[in-house]
Amino acid sequence: MIRNATLPDGSRHDIEIRDGRIAALLPPTADEPGVMLLPPLVDGHIHLDKTLLGLAWVPNQATGGQVADRIEAERRVRAARTVSETETGANLVKQVMASGTLHMRSHVDIDNQLGLRNLQALLAIRQRFRNLVTIQIVAFPQSGIVRSPGTAELLDAAIAEGADLVGGLDPMGIDGDVDGPLDAIFAIATRRGVGIDIHLHDGGEGGISEMNAIAERTRASGLAGKVAISHAFALGSVPVDLAARTADTLAEAGIAIMSHGPGAATMPPLQLLRQHGVEVFGGSDNIRDAWSPFGNGDMLERAMLIGYRANFRHDHELELACEMVTSAAARVLGLADYGIRPGGPADLVAVEGETLAEAVAHHPRRKWVMKGGRIIARDGVLA
Ligand SMILES: [Zn+2]
Repeated sequence: MIRNATLPDGSRHDIEIRDGRIAALLPPTADEPGVMLLPPLVDGHIHLDKTLLGLAWVPNQATGGQVADRIEAERRVRAARTVSETETGANLVKQVMASGTLHMRSHVDIDNQLGLRNLQALLAIRQRFRNLVTIQIVAFPQSGIVRSPGTAELLDAAIAEGADLVGGLDPMGIDGDVDGPLDAIFAIATRRGVGIDIHLHDGGEGGISEMNAIAERTRASGLAGKVAISHAFALGSVPVDLAARTADTLAEAGIAIMSHGPGAATMPPLQLLRQHGVEVFGGSDNIRDAWSPFGNGDMLERAMLIGYRANFRHDHELELACEMVTSAAARVLGLADYGIRPGGPADLVAVEGETLAEAVAHHPRRKWVMKGGRIIARDGVLA
């Protein structure tokens, strides 16, 4: 029994837990507030294969500021690695579990140098932690599709080997061609019956026309609700009426937008997207890897960063940031067994505080994390 807990809707209950599930939400038996409970945090965009967590510090080696420069820098870092991705990825899974993330969508690099090597590492990590966390895997063409010949076939093979979605990367910015790469990934998704999650950093009206091209193919392929665009910087770099029209197109096509609260790039207008019916969700993106020295996988801190970048101030705005890393991300990932309700899983995250807004603003250390009725972490440390 958890006494007098505050739930995300502000209600207080005693929570009866039996056989790993929530048996009942009962009237509170005490007056003083107990802990605030959140459902598990969901990281909608992480790169478990890229992280260097647990290794000695590796300085960033990119010689320019373009995506292509960073791809080259990562290849150098990868060549110098002495510890496997299986080990560093596991370090990151353990770290995010301690902060309450029990579900994640990880992209995994696939190109004609790597083949399916990093996918094998992720499949091993998924198997190792299968009783604690769910890991959805996106086969991600980090080096492009046109400029890395053979990658389309590898993406298809990755799905056959156990990846759950097909990824993509700036069709114009990296491949210099919108139709070729998009046709390739939609063909794989349709043939294999899986969803799509595309990294789209391309800004301005060019980025918007790529979103329209993605929406057109999503409708034509019957993939509504199974397609996401990660980053979508373009939506924040065009006039608001064009962003609004594009939001309508995305909502009609059933395309979700992921933002991690980018440090420097333009931010998609989250409230406007929501008002137009677009699902918005959050993710960490890069955590201490060849792309970013920052990040720690704490999704409440990420919600704060998203809110900070979006200039959120009011409680309803902070609540949106919290939803982006909990229920909204759970919907995008298609998690059926999620949420604090009678009959639901006893997967809970406890924090000090009384409101969601406070939890986001302060993102305090998690008092405990429960998985299936068992405490798996206390005070930010795995049990
Ligand atoms: Zn990413």
